[in-house]
Amino acid sequence: MGMISGWGRYPKIDAEEMSFESDHHLQNLLNAPADSRTLIPRGLGRSYGDSSLAERVISTKRMDRLISFDDGTGVLVCESGVSIAEILNVFVPRGWFIPVTPGTKFVTIGGAIASDVHGKNHHLSGSFSNHIVWIDLALADGEIVRCSTKENRELFLATCAGYGLTGVVLRAAIQLTKVETPYIRQHTIRAANLDEAMAAFENNRNWTYSVGWIDSLSSGNSSGRSVIMLGEHASTGEIASFIKGAHSDAGRGASGKSRLTVPFDFPAFALNSFSVSTFNYLYYHKSTANPKDSLVKYQPFFYPLDGILNWNRIYGRRGFTQYQLVLPKESSREGLKEILKMASSGGNASFLTVLKLFGNEDLPYLSFALEGYTLALDFPITRYIFDELEKLDDIVKIHGGRLYLTKDCRMSIEMLRAGFPKLDKFLEVRERIDPQRRFASLQSKRLGL
Ligand SMILES: Cc1cc2nc3c(=O)[nH]c(=O)nc-3n(C[C@H](O)[C@H](O)[C@H](O)COP(=O)(O)OP(=O)(O)OC[C@H]3O[C@@H](n4cnc5c(N)ncnc54)[C@H](O)[C@@H]3O)c2cc1C
Repeated sequence: MGMISGWGRYPKIDAEEMSFESDHHLQNLLNAPADSRTLIPRGLGRSYGDSSLAERVISTKRMDRLISFDDGTGVLVCESGVSIAEILNVFVPRGWFIPVTPGTKFVTIGGAIASDVHGKNHHLSGSFSNHIVWIDLALADGEIVRCSTKENRELFLATCAGYGLTGVVLRAAIQLTKVETPYIRQHTIRAANLDEAMAAFENNRNWTYSVGWIDSLSSGNSSGRSVIMLGEHASTGEIASFIKGAHSDAGRGASGKSRLTVPFDFPAFALNSFSVSTFNYLYYHKSTANPKDSLVKYQPFFYPLDGILNWNRIYGRRGFTQYQLVLPKESSREGLKEILKMASSGGNASFLTVLKLFGNEDLPYLSFALEGYTLALDFPITRYIFDELEKLDDIVKIHGGRLYLTKDCRMSIEMLRAGFPKLDKFLEVRERIDPQRRFASLQSKRLGL
């Protein structure tokens, strides 16, 4: 037994961790004499809240083998405990990239599927499940079933964004994306407020990647003041012309290795409205007023925080929560303004606030994305934070939005029902394949999943 938590370090529970290294080994674990304690698969624990927490967790850390790769089609078959970092290390030098990546590469393929993660390219490429050819899934009774959009379709749609509640993903076939270089051509735009930021996203929809960092403490006419980063995989020709040009960032921070680490918990007072607004002010004004082009290695573009090991410790011992919401396109502008107004006035400084544009809604029943805008805000756990978040819930609900389960540790059943119209389809599949609810997490119990 030992204490485990998600990335937000709240909540923490005492759990027994089991791991397995083959299908047969997992089947033995699942068929062992009945144990009333709940069970949930777990990857690298990068979900923020309680979706990978249970009395017993089945770690996929020993299921870490690459099985096959077809150089003609770009289809990779690997075990579910392989991380995106490991895939990139092997495949970027061979000219292939992961089709969708979250903001950290330290997630497993099982975790990416179970949360149906999105990246900075959702408006063009959708979420992770759009790029999966098939999945092998171990059900609660140990049966192994292959599923995809064509085969056992309902099980596939319940397993992607299924948060481990349909079983353990053993293997997956994933369509990789061809790239010429490990570099990203980056274009940076400064936006004076939310309207300008949204215009920058809309006018640049043809860029493969886009993301906005928002100064969440700016208010009034400056509310939503942000720096928007656009990116494309650079071609070899572009690298050559950048190297000739004066403004190349190529090579700067190119190793992608972690150089910084947070070795201890920050005291709770370290991140307050004053320190966050000072940092935000400096960051915004550091970026030039004129749009800027640069060439950067893929690591700093996709994973800026992976360069600081254990950065989650800056929120102190009590931990933090990330509140990530999405609003439909038609209500995004008004809703985001209200959210930002409340976030900047509540006295709870969100250190990291990120805005992204989403494209079409994804097929899986509990996938997070809706066509519109998503905003993610980080808040330290304090005595009043959950009351404050309920006020944000009301805004999200009124504007027809939803919250992201992989970041959540406190959502209500009512909020879940309001946000996920396909919830009953998910529950039907769950009832059919695991009526005893052998697979359950703290989150699924809280939400009646
Ligand atoms: C810095 C940072 C940035 C992030 N940025 C993004 C982002 O941009 N977009 C985004 O979508 N997410 C983002 N995330 C969230 C992260 O991508 C997801 O939470 C992802 O699921 C974590 O994967 P993991 O391997 O750590 O899984 P865990 O956190 O261990 O588990 C997450 C869920 O997956 C289930 N699971 C894990 N493995 C399996 C398996 N083999 N079979 C079945 N179920 C399984 C667990 O039961 C749990 O419900 C970010 C997280 C961090 C820390």
